[in-house]
Amino acid sequence: MVGARIVWITGAGSGIGRALAEEFALHGDSIAATARTLANLTALQGQIETSSGTCKVFQCDISNAEQVRTTAELIRSTLGPIDVLINNAGVTYFKDFLATTIEQFDEVMATNLRGLFLSTKAVLPIMLERGSGLIINVLSYAAKATYTGSSVYAASKAGAEAMMNVLRAETRSKGIKIINVYLGAVFTPIWHPRHREKYGHQMMKPAELAKVIFELSCQPPSMVIEDVVIRPQVGDLQV
Ligand code: NAP
Repeated sequence: MVGARIVWITGAGSGIGRALAEEFALHGDSIAATARTLANLTALQGQIETSSGTCKVFQCDISNAEQVRTTAELIRSTLGPIDVLINNAGVTYFKDFLATTIEQFDEVMATNLRGLFLSTKAVLPIMLERGSGLIINVLSYAAKATYTGSSVYAASKAGAEAMMNVLRAETRSKGIKIINVYLGAVFTPIWHPRHREKYGHQMMKPAELAKVIFELSCQPPSMVIEDVVIRPQVGDLQV
């Protein structure tokens, strides 16, 4: 059975994206899960379908304009028009400014900023046509605070924040809601296993975070929660 909403989650193969897919599916939403690694997506699909949820998976490099465009079309033809886009795919390198290579700069920007531009561009026209749509951006507290070893990552997330704030102003009168979520440390594969082992107890849990983000997605039509900072209760992680 097709659930209440069609929800496209980028970077759904692991970590936060995977937890979001499981949580939204649990509530009856139909999930379109995308990432580059098909094996991870297939495992997620199996898990959701075992619990009678709906999950379709599509291999898609979020930085590739053609792949993003065709994936959005495939999701629509398979599940229907997209109600919720969760821009979650992201990468980082924990490196000081000088140690960061040009290739790493390009990859982080292509994924975290260009990717979010491409996916949003691919869903927005039909959301506007329908007069409703929700876009949730998984940003980072690094966009607001200064963490050494994260200059390019912080720039990508702060760039996404600025872009989305403008888009919100451009589309809010047309039924589009945009929520920026700024996260502190979460226990996911984005962290080196060494860091997870040493600091894991100070990190938020993806499944718990997914419950909070699901709640954010359920707002009355007359209002929008625009910016949400979610950090570990024990404070920021200093690695
Ligand atoms: P993760 O487990 O490494 O997940 C990242 C996901 O993004 C993976 O599914 C990965 O799948 C996908 N991805 C990466 N590059 C991609 C590309 N070019 N095209 C499509 N998909 C791509 O890490 P995570 O922590 O859950 O990260 C999810 C989001 O949370 C990111 O935007 C990250 O910046 C943000 N965030 C995380 C934390 C934290 O402490 N964990 C804190 C603040 C914000 P493939 O490699 O298979 O493509």
